Amino acid sequence: MVFDDAVWIAERCFGELGKKTIFLWKQYNVAYFGGALKPTLVLYVPTSPYGHWVGLHCRDQNIYLMFPGAKRPWGFVRGVLLHEMVHQHLAQCERDASHAGQPWRSEIMRITHLLGRDIWAGEYTVVKVAGRSVRANKKQPVGIHAQYCLNQFDISRWPHSYTKKSSWPGLEPPELEPSVYAQLKVEESTQAKAAAAPTT
Ligand SMILES: [Zn+2]
Repeated sequence: MVFDDAVWIAERCFGELGKKTIFLWKQYNVAYFGGALKPTLVLYVPTSPYGHWVGLHCRDQNIYLMFPGAKRPWGFVRGVLLHEMVHQHLAQCERDASHAGQPWRSEIMRITHLLGRDIWAGEYTVVKVAGRSVRANKKQPVGIHAQYCLNQFDISRWPHSYTKKSSWPGLEPPELEPSVYAQLKVEESTQAKAAAAPTT
């Protein structure tokens, strides 16, 4: 799979949305993974087959996203894309891609830092609370505000927050660069003109 194939398929299946999304994948790949991710299909599905966000499929290596909508604005979908790209990165490096693993926690701390915030995603372990053993995340080091300490729900839903129990507000990764988006528009209008031109 080369990037142009992913663009071609995204455009034919999902039009402007598909194209915008695959170029956003490319932008995030450069910004947060040093361009190391291998081109992959980013496909929209109407519903999640597993009842929750479906991630990078282990067998076919595609990224699946649910269509943006009233409950899932585009900014939220961008967050899901970045989340799935972290899974892609860890799978590609053959590291533990689970939300409870150390590689996942390290990656979300690293990328959040690149996005301008410092979070703490502590190891999920057994801690003593009032003499009782309970499952919780390890405490943050000095210097990280308690608001930015993610619990295990937040860690598994990063970069979104688990709103009911969380102090972490979550974040939305950046929009597609305007210059790239403008370029996509130009290409589309050129194609439309070519299609509309009378044949002789
Ligand atoms: Zn995940």
